Amino acid sequence: MNATSHIENPDVILIGSGIMSATLGTVLKSLRPELKIQLYEVTDELAQESSNGWNNAGTGHAGICEVSYTPNRRPDGEVDVAKAISIFEEFEHSKYFWGYAVREGIIDDPKTIINPVPHISFVYGQEQVDFLRSRYHGMSQHHFFRDMQYTEDRKLISQWAPLLVGGRADIPIAATKMERGTDVNFGAIARQLVQWLGRQTGCGYACQHRVTRLNRTSNGWDIGIRDLKNGRSITNSAKFVFIGAGGGSLPLLQKANIPEGKGFGGFPIGGQWLICRKPEIVKQHGAKVYGLSPGAAPTMAVPHLDTRIIDGEEALLFGPYAAWTTKFLHQGGSLLDLPGSMRWDNLSSLIKVGLHNIPLVGYLIQQGLQSMSTRMKELRNFYPDAKTEDWELIDAGIRVQAIKKQDGDAGIVHFGTEVLSDEDKTISVLLGASPGASVSANIILEIVQDCFGDWLETDDGHQRMKKMIPSFDETLMDPDMADRQAALSEQAERSLQLL
Ligand SMILES: Cc1cc2nc3c(=O)[nH]c(=O)nc-3n(C[C@H](O)[C@H](O)[C@H](O)COP(=O)(O)OP(=O)(O)OC[C@H]3O[C@@H](n4cnc5c(N)ncnc54)[C@H](O)[C@@H]3O)c2cc1C
Repeated sequence: MNATSHIENPDVILIGSGIMSATLGTVLKSLRPELKIQLYEVTDELAQESSNGWNNAGTGHAGICEVSYTPNRRPDGEVDVAKAISIFEEFEHSKYFWGYAVREGIIDDPKTIINPVPHISFVYGQEQVDFLRSRYHGMSQHHFFRDMQYTEDRKLISQWAPLLVGGRADIPIAATKMERGTDVNFGAIARQLVQWLGRQTGCGYACQHRVTRLNRTSNGWDIGIRDLKNGRSITNSAKFVFIGAGGGSLPLLQKANIPEGKGFGGFPIGGQWLICRKPEIVKQHGAKVYGLSPGAAPTMAVPHLDTRIIDGEEALLFGPYAAWTTKFLHQGGSLLDLPGSMRWDNLSSLIKVGLHNIPLVGYLIQQGLQSMSTRMKELRNFYPDAKTEDWELIDAGIRVQAIKKQDGDAGIVHFGTEVLSDEDKTISVLLGASPGASVSANIILEIVQDCFGDWLETDDGHQRMKKMIPSFDETLMDPDMADRQAALSEQAERSLQLL
C-alpha cells in the first residue's frame, strides 16, 4: 500500500486525511480487521489543513485553562464549570485512544504527537480576578481538577510563567495552573494513523485525489474522484462514506443532497498567529496560557500564549488573530467558496446570521487589517516586555463554523461541532470546528455508536472498543469513578510518556 493505492469497491470511503478521518479509519479497522477502507485526500501530503501542526494551537483542550468554556454564572452567582468537566472527560477518551495507538505500534514515538505542557489561565483587573477565583473554587472540587492551583501572588505567577509578569503595571492579576496539560501535534497523529491504515490488508489512501461527486445507489454511494496528477476522473463505490473534509465538508454534503443536510450553511473564520522562535525567549515560557476574550471576539478567538513543540522545534505562538475570509480551505480553497455554498435552503439562515453578527463581521475585518503595532499591543497584554523584532506573523487554519436553521432564527453563529448521518446510516459528515481535534476520539465514537452500533453489541466488538477507549461506555465524571479515571489516565500517560 502507498500514497496512491486504490481499493476497488471498499466497505468504507473516507474523504480527507485530517485527524477525524484518520481516527475513524483506525477505529473501524481495529474493530473489524477484515474491513476494506479507502481514503482520498486532495492535497499532495497528508493532513495539511486544520490538523497540520502550525495551523492550530495544538492545545489538548481538556477544559483546564480555556476560560471561554465557563462563561456563565449559576443562580448562586458562582461560575458554572459543567462544560469544562465534560470537555475534560472527552479529552480523556482521546488520550486513552492515543495511548492505545502507541501500545499497538500504530504510532511510533509518542514524543512526535504529544508533550506535557502545563495549562495556565491568566487574568488581569479585579473583575477578571473575581471570575477566575470563582471558577477555581468550582473546578477544584471535582476530581478531574483536584490538582489545580490558584494564586494572586505575582511572585508565584512569575515562577509559573515569567513573561506574563515582567514589566506589568501594578494591577490585580491571578492565575490557575495544572501541570498535566498537553501540547498535541494533531497533524502528526493523523499522518501516522493514515499511514498505518495504508499498511493494512484491504486498505489504501490516495493523495492529490479530489472527491468531486457523491451519488446515492441502492447499495451505498458512488463517489466521483479527480486524480489531480493526470486530470483523469474515476469512480469508486462504498457502503459507507465519511465526509471528514474539514472546510471542504459543506460543499460535499450539499453534493450528497441528503435531507438531513438541508438548511446548513458555513461561516469561515480565518486565523493568524504571531510566532517567536528565539530560543532565549521560548525557553522562559513552557506553558499554555489562556486569557479572556476581548470585546466582540468569538469565543474561539480568546488570546493565548502557547508553547508549541512541532517536529522537535520549540516555538511560542500568540493569537489567534481572526481574519475575514470567504475561502473554506487554505490549499485548494477559493474565494468563491462562501458564495458558492449559498442555497435556497440556507440563504435565510445565512442572511439572518450575517445581520445578527455585524459586530462579529466588523471584528473579523478589523482584525485582518490591523497593523503589526496593534497586534503587538494585544500581545503585550500578556507579555508586557514583548519586542516587535522577535515576532513574525504567520497564517493559521480556517474554521468553517456550521450554521444551522435554528441558529439562523436565533441569530447566532454556532461554534460547536455538528455530526450528521442519514437515516440509513450510509453516510456521516462532520461540520464545524470547536473544540475539535482534542475531542476527535469522542466525536468518532459517537459516529461509530450511531452508524455501527450493532458491532459494539457483540462480545468481540465490545472488547475491541474497550481496548481502544476503556471508558467508552462509562461516565468518568461521576464522583465514584475518581479512582478508575486516575488509573486509566495514568496508563495512557505512561504509554504517551507524559509522566
Ligand atoms: C486557528 C485554529 C486553532 C485551533 N486550535 C485548536 C486547538 O488548540 N486544539 C484543538 O483541539 N483543536 C484546535 N483547532 C481545531 C482543529 O484544528 C480541527 O478541529 C481539526 O483539525 C479538524 O480536523 P478534520 O480532520 O475535521 O479537518 P482537516 O484537518 O481540515 O482535514 C480535512 C482534510 O480534507 C481534505 N479535503 C477537503 N476537501 C476535499 C475533497 N473534496 N476531496 C478530498 N479531500 C478533501 C483537506 O485537504 C484536509 O486535508 C483549531 C483550528 C484552527 C483553525
